[in-house]
Amino acid sequence: MAGETAKLNAFPVFMRVDGRRVVIVGGGDEALAKARLMAQSSAELLIVAETPEPVLADWAAANDAALVRAPYEAAHLHGAVLAFAATGDESADRAVVTDARALSIPVNAVDRPDLCDFFTPALVNRAPVAVAIGTEGAGPVLAQMIRARIDQMLSPSLGRLATLAASYRETVERRLAKGVARRRFWKTFFTGSPARAIETGNAHRAAGAVEALLRSQGVETGHVALVGAGPGAEDLLTLRAQRLLMEADVIVHDALVPEAVIAMGRRDALRIAAGKRKGCHSKTQEEINHLLVELAREGKRVVRLKSGDPLVFGRAGEEIAALREAGISYELVPGVTAAFAAAADFELPLTLRGVASSMVFTTGHDLKGSALPDWAKLAIDGATVAVYMGRSTAAEVAGRLQDAGLSPETAVAVVENASLASRRLFHGTLSDLPALQGRTDLKGPVLTIIGDAVAGANFDRSEPLAAYALATVEARR
Ligand code: SAH
Repeated sequence: MAGETAKLNAFPVFMRVDGRRVVIVGGGDEALAKARLMAQSSAELLIVAETPEPVLADWAAANDAALVRAPYEAAHLHGAVLAFAATGDESADRAVVTDARALSIPVNAVDRPDLCDFFTPALVNRAPVAVAIGTEGAGPVLAQMIRARIDQMLSPSLGRLATLAASYRETVERRLAKGVARRRFWKTFFTGSPARAIETGNAHRAAGAVEALLRSQGVETGHVALVGAGPGAEDLLTLRAQRLLMEADVIVHDALVPEAVIAMGRRDALRIAAGKRKGCHSKTQEEINHLLVELAREGKRVVRLKSGDPLVFGRAGEEIAALREAGISYELVPGVTAAFAAAADFELPLTLRGVASSMVFTTGHDLKGSALPDWAKLAIDGATVAVYMGRSTAAEVAGRLQDAGLSPETAVAVVENASLASRRLFHGTLSDLPALQGRTDLKGPVLTIIGDAVAGANFDRSEPLAAYALATVEARR
């Protein structure tokens, strides 16, 4: 409704401070906090404190800030563009405020909003880009919360990208017509290959990408990111994965990826389920490869979202090969693999000093033949073994490992729905493991960890694996 927007009592502006003096009066924590904030700028800092605390003095020395060890006097403010009263003492702060105002210097008195001419924002710094959050001194905690959220949305390399953009502004104005082409160029510049090159720290490649983009008038083929979604809990996603999700035009996801993670994408992003839960393949791997290539050729930014880590039993190798062959640009974003989530749920040290110093990721599906695969030998030598997709091979894995000489008493931990609130934990020994195969009550994904290191886990919240086998036998009687 027009006219009803609340008015700001403090209006945000960006003040030029480069090489100009900012004075902070005070020798304790408050002064240090303001000094740290101002040190994110290229202002020249002067701290006035008769008896500065050692941390402040050390900080000033390490950060090229001038420290005047003398009683404060108005003359210290001369030539300043901003002043801070941060003495921690009300009458001393008031004196600084009065002096600053007499000299027409805007002043901020820490924790005394009524004495402030300006407030300092919570700051997201991607120099030359800055996002400043203000609450007019009312809610510093709120401001920090907003700051944290914005900070994770913005790539750490955004500042470098903005600097690069500034260096091309004239060239772009000369070479591209105002309007559609120029807008398209800048959009692709900030989201396409120049941005990706800067993100990986490759300035040379970024320059090449900008040249190509100028020639193509901002038109570029798409890009595919193979992204690990983590084990299920939505906050085990990496910040990079989240950022890419928010930028994606299309999200192609596996069945195991929870809705909460997919929902982090833009609302107008196209979502495609690529399926692949045991027994119900909604798309073949070839179809998925083809889909990714086609979407990228249409110029789409695609996120291929896989559970856990994309490079662990994720068939990422085949997708990478298809993208390479088609000349499509792609990147990989790691995720928390199920074994790590399961180990965390069980407080289980995957490597344990003096017990286990190596680790195996396997499915057990290669145990079918007569030859024992390498990993079985590693298990016998004490490696910790994580078995993915292991329910249907549980008996085979247990039997073959025992035949090969692993003790039936070797500890085993099983986690269903690792990292999720619905998780269930089971413990037992190798001789109990075959019981897992018959467990029709476990509907979620299951990860099994075998090895002596498992004995170091916390069994307070786990059920014995053997109990189910016994109960089943009882029921059959
Ligand atoms: N790339 C995935 C693995 C995909 S294979 C990763 O790195 O985790 C699918 C198998 O992963 C499942 O059969 C199960 O063994 C395991 N898995 C995936 N998520 C799991 C979870 N939340 N809890 C337990 N196991 C899980």
